[in-house]
Amino acid sequence: MSFMAARSTIPVRIAMFTLRENYELENHRMNPETVSPLEGYLGTTFPPGQVEFTHIDSCYANPQDFLNETFDIVGINAHWRGIGPVKEVLRNWPLSSMAKYVFIEGSYIDCLKSGREVIMGLLRETGADAFIVYGEPEPAVSGLIEHIVYGRGLETIPNLVRPEDGWQGPGQTERTDLSKIPYQPYQYLTDLMSFPFHTFHVETSRGCHYGRCTFCTDARMWMGGWRGYPTENIVSLFEDMRHNRVDYAFIFDKDFWGNDLTRAKALAAALIESGNSIPYTVALRADEIIAGEDLLPSFKESGLAFVFVGAETFSESVARRYNKGITVADTLRAIQILRKHQIDFGLGYIIDPVGSLEELVESLEVVRRHRLWGHLSSIFNAMEIRNGTGYEMIARKAGILGQRNDDNLLHEYEFADLRVGTVVEVSKDWLRQVPHINVFLLLAKRMTHRVTGRDQHEYLKYYHYLHVSTKLILTSSHP
Ligand code: SF4
Repeated sequence: MSFMAARSTIPVRIAMFTLRENYELENHRMNPETVSPLEGYLGTTFPPGQVEFTHIDSCYANPQDFLNETFDIVGINAHWRGIGPVKEVLRNWPLSSMAKYVFIEGSYIDCLKSGREVIMGLLRETGADAFIVYGEPEPAVSGLIEHIVYGRGLETIPNLVRPEDGWQGPGQTERTDLSKIPYQPYQYLTDLMSFPFHTFHVETSRGCHYGRCTFCTDARMWMGGWRGYPTENIVSLFEDMRHNRVDYAFIFDKDFWGNDLTRAKALAAALIESGNSIPYTVALRADEIIAGEDLLPSFKESGLAFVFVGAETFSESVARRYNKGITVADTLRAIQILRKHQIDFGLGYIIDPVGSLEELVESLEVVRRHRLWGHLSSIFNAMEIRNGTGYEMIARKAGILGQRNDDNLLHEYEFADLRVGTVVEVSKDWLRQVPHINVFLLLAKRMTHRVTGRDQHEYLKYYHYLHVSTKLILTSSHP
């Protein structure tokens, strides 16, 4: 019997591990079936029964329970944790006995060349015929399936890196056609461990139309490219979620509107028309909020409950260093618009390692004047200098860059203004004394909602404490 004949009756088995923050915990609830755009894509590309797809999301299932199974292809997605857990998995899991082909998907790996080298070294250690799929997995995974089923040559598969020679396929810039990805019906358990309510993570677009912020790895990955899923696919996903009793959708797109207000308008109308009742969170740039203010009432009616805006700073000179393409006045205008439309919002904030204490205080004063402290993910969130970003060059030029940590591909650094470093240290000390507040900061960072209620009081104390310390340090350094 030929390999192809055998394959005509045996489906190609794929396991996709999605590792989230909690992947190392042991008490997961089992729910290997969850929605996956990759599954939808493969479902339309191959005849029914040819591909058996198991999505193992560590929010719902313990990946360790699947390690004795055998698959043809195993995928690892660690978007939420970066390269560290991927390394850990490659070192500790018997992937070579689980599957012949292993692929790793994630923007951290995609955009960081030296990260790819680290991972490739580890792939060699596994002994499997392993590959890195960088960028979007769909075309490369369907190429691997065709290789298994029809004997298609590996050299024609896009976005693959082989560990033995580091070969890169011809189509490394190939992007998936999102219109080919319908959302699949899926099972959803109501007792699952999630966030405070049954939040489901949803993707409605890929990329970022701006793509130029210096601190952002996505900027490097997408190069300003953005594509949205067809409106009807998003509507059908929301309908599925409603049937499966999801009660909050976290749309984790980097850029929900993608500067395409015509599509955005159609999407809001379609969600309203479908009677969507699931509230949802999105991320929008301040300039999009200003340009699309007229759309906000419809989006609110369609379920929009929370908007995350990457403010990052309220100092004009720092904003320029971040190359956000947005002024502080733009951010404040966007905030004013969200307040006017009574849409709750969170603000991303990053302390600039090259910035001065004067710039930090300038930012804090704006936060105080506009009563923004409760909206900030964390006022003393020091930047992680990521390998391969524009900011890496800024930091190198400023002479503050230290060694790169191969576990997470972040650079060590000294703050250019030591007083800023002191403030950050004071902040960390204080946070160590009130560990419970970290939970709220984490949630706020995850953009699902902001700090409210009793915790708001704690957060207020935190803010005032740090604000006062900062001012004291500033005053004492300028007698
Ligand atoms: S920070 Fe946001 S707006 Fe800037 S490049 Fe990254 S995804 Fe785009």
